[in-house]
Amino acid sequence: MAKKIAKRSWAEPFKIKVVEPIKMTTIENREKAIKNAGYNTFLLKSEDVYIDLLTDSGTNAMSDRQWSGMMIGDEAYAGSKNFYYLWKNIKKYYGMPYFVPTHQGRAAEHMISQILIKEGDYVPGNMYFTTTKLHQELAGGTFVDVIIDEAHDTASEHSFKGNIDLKKLKDLIKKVSAKKIAYVSMAGPVNMAGGQPFSMANLKAVQKLCKENKIKLWFDATRAVENAYFIKVRERGYAKKSIAEILKEMMSYFEGMWVSAKKDLMVNIGGIFATRNKKVFEAVRNMVVVYEGLHTYGGLAGRDMEAMAVGIEEMVEYDNIRARIGQIEYFGHQLDKYSVPYIKPIGGHAIFLDAKKILSHISQDNFPAQTLASEIYIDSGVRGMERGIVSAGRNSKTGKHNYPKLELVRLTFPRRVYTQAHIDVAVESIASVYQNRRKIKGLKMIYEPEYLRFFQGRFEKL
Ligand SMILES: *Cc1c(COP(=O)(O)O)cnc(C)c1O
Repeated sequence: MAKKIAKRSWAEPFKIKVVEPIKMTTIENREKAIKNAGYNTFLLKSEDVYIDLLTDSGTNAMSDRQWSGMMIGDEAYAGSKNFYYLWKNIKKYYGMPYFVPTHQGRAAEHMISQILIKEGDYVPGNMYFTTTKLHQELAGGTFVDVIIDEAHDTASEHSFKGNIDLKKLKDLIKKVSAKKIAYVSMAGPVNMAGGQPFSMANLKAVQKLCKENKIKLWFDATRAVENAYFIKVRERGYAKKSIAEILKEMMSYFEGMWVSAKKDLMVNIGGIFATRNKKVFEAVRNMVVVYEGLHTYGGLAGRDMEAMAVGIEEMVEYDNIRARIGQIEYFGHQLDKYSVPYIKPIGGHAIFLDAKKILSHISQDNFPAQTLASEIYIDSGVRGMERGIVSAGRNSKTGKHNYPKLELVRLTFPRRVYTQAHIDVAVESIASVYQNRRKIKGLKMIYEPEYLRFFQGRFEKL
């Protein structure tokens, strides 16, 4: 007898118009390729990758509206019409009156860090992000992690593991004084915690505490729409609000923001600096001409700004963000069938495999997450990345490795790129590596760059 239909699946609110062939490789090809890449998935040639879950940064599929926008790029050096359209949407959707485009998120991070941080300042934040923290340090600041403890606990199913721990923040203010705090740097969903969001209630409480102490509150709004989605589905009182309304409310608590447009905005390149503080805006406008270009293009072509402006309109569509996060949830639920350990709750942009649990026989000094990422690549050509001891770098004072609590392999989903069948193949491969995990040996590092070593570090099999 036919099975009774108990539920209706959701599906993507788009269909495929253009396809890009990908190369099918053999296990021999891949063993050679990863060896040549020093067992670092960042050093693989993209041609040698089958399903690329390295990052969702700039790897998105643009819509036909975005592509047609590329054709109406106004490539004037000054005052491009695409700039004004983008500015209009930044005011409308983010609620920030002042805006400067940048070529990527880190260019905005660089400027904001140089402008707001003085030597010896502290910059508390809800867990670090690689480029954010580095720019804060290069500006003379010290990053202090004030995220709630649950964020470091892979077993915790707290709905808002990206929340700031108010007590930690209060203690820091008491210890170093509010004057020594350049600003509170909030991000969400928190990448390093597994794509975990903060709640609106937490944001409001953080803003109140900052205001009482006259401390600025700034937002890495790169994934703000993903955070807004989680607020809608998980936080009381927001179910009926639109993504756009939630985004606007979130933004209202911040003095300013920076964004990597390569994420939420579903483009391939771009960054945003925006604020309601005119003085900071003027300072950034002065600085952008030195590092990026004139303040009406900031290192971007007019066509890129057009695609970003359209991307802002698409990113707040509920069905779009629902499909994005739904795909990641599907991936997680399939992994559950094979009991593969990963961080829960399922995050906003990626699945984070728990390499410490999966390869519990490999010590942290032999890079369990780096090892797991290369083994998955060898098995199927699925490319993920390490988020563990390699990414955490060294302590700038002692020169020793930082030992993060988490050893993760991040499998990140480019927006609107892969199908459910791709996901099934990735799941089968990971399950197979998991079942054969006892045979896997660790790695040793043979080359270590000074900055952001996870990008270019090289390894050898033990
Ligand atoms: C990607 C990202 C950045 C850096 O932006 P780029 O565009 O890669 O320079 C900063 N913060 C967060 C949260 C990001 O995801």
